[in-house]
Parts: sequence; C-alpha cells; structure tokens
Amino acid sequence: MQTIGYAAQTAETPLAPFAFERRELRPNDVAIEILYCGVCHSDLHQARNDWGFSTYPLVPGHEIVGRVIGTGADVTRYKQGDKVAVGCIVDSCQHCDQCHAGEEQLCRNVVTQTYNGQDRITGETTYGGYSRHIVVREEFVLSVPDALDLAKAAPLLCAGITTWSPLRTWGVGPGSRIGVIGLGGLGHMAVKLAHAMGAHVTVISRSDAKKDDALALGAEALLVSADPDAMAAAASSFDLIIDTIPVRHDVTPYMPLLDIDATLVIVGQLGPIDETSTLPLLMGRRRLSGSPIGGIAETQEMLDFCARMNVLPDCEMIAIQDINHAFERMERADVRYRFVIDMASMPEAV
Ligand code: NAP
Ligand code: ZN
Repeated sequence: MQTIGYAAQTAETPLAPFAFERRELRPNDVAIEILYCGVCHSDLHQARNDWGFSTYPLVPGHEIVGRVIGTGADVTRYKQGDKVAVGCIVDSCQHCDQCHAGEEQLCRNVVTQTYNGQDRITGETTYGGYSRHIVVREEFVLSVPDALDLAKAAPLLCAGITTWSPLRTWGVGPGSRIGVIGLGGLGHMAVKLAHAMGAHVTVISRSDAKKDDALALGAEALLVSADPDAMAAAASSFDLIIDTIPVRHDVTPYMPLLDIDATLVIVGQLGPIDETSTLPLLMGRRRLSGSPIGGIAETQEMLDFCARMNVLPDCEMIAIQDINHAFERMERADVRYRFVIDMASMPEAV
C-alpha cells in the first residue's frame, strides 16, 4: 500500500513529506487509517538521534489512533471500521517468559519498536504514526473503547501507559503519596491517572509557573524543586516518585523526598544521569528504578480504565505542517500538555 508521512532524513534536517510503502497484509495483520497521532518527546529525541540509534529516513509517531480499513485472512479480533490504537511496540518474540507474562516491552529477544525498529520478518526499518496508514499484527493492536474521544485518546498510547505501568507495578491506590517530576506530556498523564486511582499527588516542577494547571489536573500541591526550603520540608513524604525529566540530570535532590522503602522511578532520560550518592538509598532503604512503556494487556487495561473514569489527556491539536514548530516548543517545555497531529492535514502526495 502506498502511503505518505513526515520523515526526518538526517538528525539535522526538519521533518518533511515522505512517500513510502506499507507492507502487504500478512494473515495476522490489520491495516489502519491513522486519524490522530500524539507527539512524544521520544519522537524529538529519535528524530535528532539523541540516543545514538536512529536510522533514517525516520518517521516518528507511537501514539496512534485510527480505524481499521483491512484485515488479513486469520485476523479474528478486528474488523473494518473498528476504532483501534497502536502504541510504542508492534511486535515481540511472543515465546519468552516476558512475552508470556504480558510484558512484551521487556521481551528477551528485543521488542520491535513502532518506528526506528526492525521488522522481525523482513528486517526493514519500521515507520511510525506521522503517516496516513500503518499495518500492524493484530496482537499489537488495541481496541479504543467507545467512551473515549478519538481526537484525545492518542497520548494514552505512550504518555498514558508509560506512567500507568509504574503506578500499577508499585501498587498505587487510594491514599498513596505520589510525586511527579516534570509537568509535560508524561507528567500530566501521571497526575491524572494517579489522581483517578485515589492517590494524593504532588507535582515537582522547576518553578511555580504550572501550579494552577497542576491543581486543575488533579494534584493536591506543587513543589518547586529549585526551592531548597520547600524541598527540605517535603523530606520522606512520598511512596513513589515518577521522574519524567527528558535530559541528563541529578536525582540527588529528589531521593530524600522518598519515605523509607519508597522508589524513585525514572521514565524520562535514557542514558547517563549525573553522579549521585548512595547515602539516601542506604539510610532510607530507598530505591532508584526505571520503567519502559508497558505491555499490551496493561495498555488495554489503561485504556479501559480511562474510558471508565473519564481520564483524557489535555491536547493541543496541530496540523502535520506545524510539526517542526511543535518540536521546538516541546524542547522549551512550552506544551500544555500534548500535541496531537490531526492526520486529515497530511497531504495526499509529496
Ligand atoms: P515533555 O512533554 O517535554 O515534558 C518533560 C517535562 O520535564 C517538561 O514539561 C518539564 O516540566 C520537565 N523538564 C524539561 N526540561 C527539563 C530540564 N532541563 N530539567 C528539568 N526538568 C525539565 O516530555 P514527555 O513527552 O513527557 O517525555 C519525557 C521524557 O520521557 C522524554 O525523555 C521521553 O523520551 C521519555 N519517555 C520515556 C518513555 C519510557 O518508556 N520510559 C516513554 C515515553 C517517553 P516542568 O516545566 O514542570 O519542570
Ligand atoms: Zn512516547
């Protein structure tokens, strides 16, 4: 199938229209017309090769919602017209212990990323959701519940699941004391999801500029990380802190905020962090951890929870032609709180 997307041709060039082929349907494939795609900070990192493993052309996008337009002969779960979604992963080995446990994101044989990955059969580079169409094996296609507004649901597929998974892993529920570092795309979903689970949520931000937003999103408080007195007063007051900072940083100031046995989980920066001390780890039996996205069943669980609890991201809709400007704004943390591309704006031809 011929389709069109926006691609980076090198780490230095802006995204521009790019015509390419989607594969012929395999028996277990679903063909999807993409209606909306969220803009994740990981898209920016990979377009610019911040992580050092980008291959070009690179078509970003892993917060995909759309409608089924075709199915392979063996597909049983979906039919034409169904509202569906695709997140950050499109394949895995399906036979290791992690895949069997529904933790495909931890596949021992390397999960296939939605873009900047390698198709397991042909070895071809995968292209993501900044495009009109995508073809994905049915096991990696999610069902979008009717109650979710398609135009707003896209960011759930990465920002939603990436914050939902640690909240579930660490057993967050009513009364849990949760800190969220960085109020951006991931951060604002962490606030909404933890709040909907009954937790007591505090946003930890570089200034108080987002305080009103934080409270409106469901947080009880905003703690300014640049204020040493406020940070000292908040010592030992969290059960779980989710760190969404997208760049290299120092976790040392945040560790004492954890209560005994509590965990700071990094979901943002991929790569080195600044030198830190084991002192708060040992003295409080505190933990420093990390977490990548989530599994397929867990993603469906999150979508169903959001439909039931009416949790939806705060989206700013853009045309695909605005994507490079959106990247610049995202770099300045000037987004409240997720850009979503309306794929109706995608040109018919290059
Ligand atoms: P985003 O929308 O740009 O939000 C990041 C937030 O971090 C900003 O709003 C800002 O919040 C804070 N921040 C930005 N620059 C900072 C700096 N220099 N120092 C301290 N804080 C800073 O990004 P996002 O889409 O939420 O993604 C966040 C990170 O998560 C990215 O690195 C992305 O690649 C990664 N990610 C990881 C996974 C995973 O599987 N673990 C999945 C998706 C994304 P304040 O203004 O409130 O300080
Ligand atoms: Zn993402």
